[in-house]
Amino acid sequence: MGSYSTKRILVTGGAGFLGSHLCDRLIAKGHDVICLDNFFTGTKANIAHLLDNSRFELIRHDIVLPLRIEADEIYNLACPASPIHYQHNPIATVKTSVFGTLNMLGAAKRSRARFFQASTSEVYGDPSMHPQKETYWGNVNPIGLRSCYDEGKRVAETLCFDYLRTHKMKIKVVRIFNTYGPRMHSQDGRVVSNFIVQALKEEPLTVYGDGKQTRSFCYVDDLIDGFIKFMDSDDSFTGPVNLGNPGEFTILELAERIIRLTSSKSKIIYKPLPSDDPMQRCPDISLAKKGFNWEPQVELEEGLKKTIPYFKGIVCK
Ligand code: NAD
Ligand code: UDP
Repeated sequence: MGSYSTKRILVTGGAGFLGSHLCDRLIAKGHDVICLDNFFTGTKANIAHLLDNSRFELIRHDIVLPLRIEADEIYNLACPASPIHYQHNPIATVKTSVFGTLNMLGAAKRSRARFFQASTSEVYGDPSMHPQKETYWGNVNPIGLRSCYDEGKRVAETLCFDYLRTHKMKIKVVRIFNTYGPRMHSQDGRVVSNFIVQALKEEPLTVYGDGKQTRSFCYVDDLIDGFIKFMDSDDSFTGPVNLGNPGEFTILELAERIIRLTSSKSKIIYKPLPSDDPMQRCPDISLAKKGFNWEPQVELEEGLKKTIPYFKGIVCK
């Protein structure tokens, strides 16, 4: 039997990039963790070091299907996250956000668990407000290639607030901005992983469009700090709350920085901009600062230096 402060915590998508770091952190805090994943984009390698830990359990399951499970807290992270992965089977992506979130909210309701939903800056679409505040309702194309993800995540947020209003549930909705770090999928097509892998292989870095579009990049450890602080904050603080690093960089600046940090001879080449690719993305994090005293600590340069060795271990094997 665990101590009074030990919680049983379900992490859906726990074998993914963010989920596996969250499992690590929760176990280090002395909690019992149930990691649920269908291994669509997650890997056993991400959680291999936890398999022998008596506080860790692994369930292979697709959240689109109902599951009876008891927990004190549920972190619902299961969902393909990169454009390549979520566009691979857009209908499955919508089902994961809609049926999957419904199923996990149902499980939370039955066990009176606190429910954490991993939403995304994509709910802002191609924003006309900059930086983006939580009060901004977004500018999302409902029928485009990214819609399966953006609109799915918007419905998932709606469901959380309908469960709050209808069943008085304890919910926490976080809007995550671009996050990077070790255990990112090396072929997920996201900009940080693509550029590091290309630079390490001395291949050209593929900048889409003119590279003047901006993103803000949060190091994974900072994000996970934010997750736990938010989950532990007062029940009345439901979010949605932005978590991300407000340092804003053009994609071209990122490419040049990665070439320098890897001492690569790679050149930059330009490719067409994907459809509905947002021009600017930068979080206003004042709500997280005020609500639970969170702000990121790791600068882009430092975070890239921690991330590059991970990719070296994969690419240079
Ligand atoms: P990831 O692909 O590494 O992790 C997602 C995990 O969910 C994987 O392990 C995958 O196998 C699992 N999964 C997918 N569909 C499932 C299903 N139907 N049932 C069970 N498991 C399923 O991606 P990530 O970057 O770790 O993202 C985690 C969450 O955070 C996602 O919900 C994503 O939308 C959100 N998010 C991430 C970022 C980011 O920059 N990393 C930004 C915004 C939002
Ligand atoms: N991008 C790029 N080259 C790549 C991968 C991505 O120029 O090889 C650009 C992409 O067009 C976008 C930005 O980098 O403008 C961030 O893309 P990512 O898929 O990482 O995240 P998102 O668009 O979801 O923020």
